[in-house]
Amino acid sequence: MTGNITLTMVKPMAVKKGYIGPILAKINEAGFKIIAMKYTKLSLDQAKKFYEVHKERPFYNDLVNFMSSGPIVTAILEKENAVESYRNFIGATNPANAEPGTIRALYGTDLEKNAVHGSDSDENAIIESDFFFSKVERY
Ligand code: ADP
Ligand code: MG
Repeated sequence: MTGNITLTMVKPMAVKKGYIGPILAKINEAGFKIIAMKYTKLSLDQAKKFYEVHKERPFYNDLVNFMSSGPIVTAILEKENAVESYRNFIGATNPANAEPGTIRALYGTDLEKNAVHGSDSDENAIIESDFFFSKVERY
């Protein structure tokens, strides 16, 4: 069964550069419905927990430091086939390889500071949504 939600974050560098508005506008234009959203900041421990699957990777420490370095915007997005659709919309992990016009190509700084997060599976979309949002924060 294809899931209909994905979890995104506008990462700290994209927030710092003033890209919240442009990114949300494109999310809206692309037909994703926002069912939950908040402006927040991850503690180092929260960032470590969120990215726990990557803890053996060489980039893990830098990544969790970066992700807890400033505020983010996180949201649950709804659309048919949301996970795959959103990953196509944001582009490849490395902005240098992302298709022109995708969010990471437009607003990414480098491989780490690649503007946005998108869930990689329906299962993780649910886990990541529950990480940030209670039931009463979803509309
Ligand atoms: P994605 O965000 O596209 O699902 P991954 O789950 O593989 O990519 O990695 C999580 C995040 O870790 C990426 O979005 C990026 O910010 C960072 N990252 C991934 N690979 C590297 C790398 N080789 N060097 C530095 N940062 C990386
Ligand atoms: Mg991933």
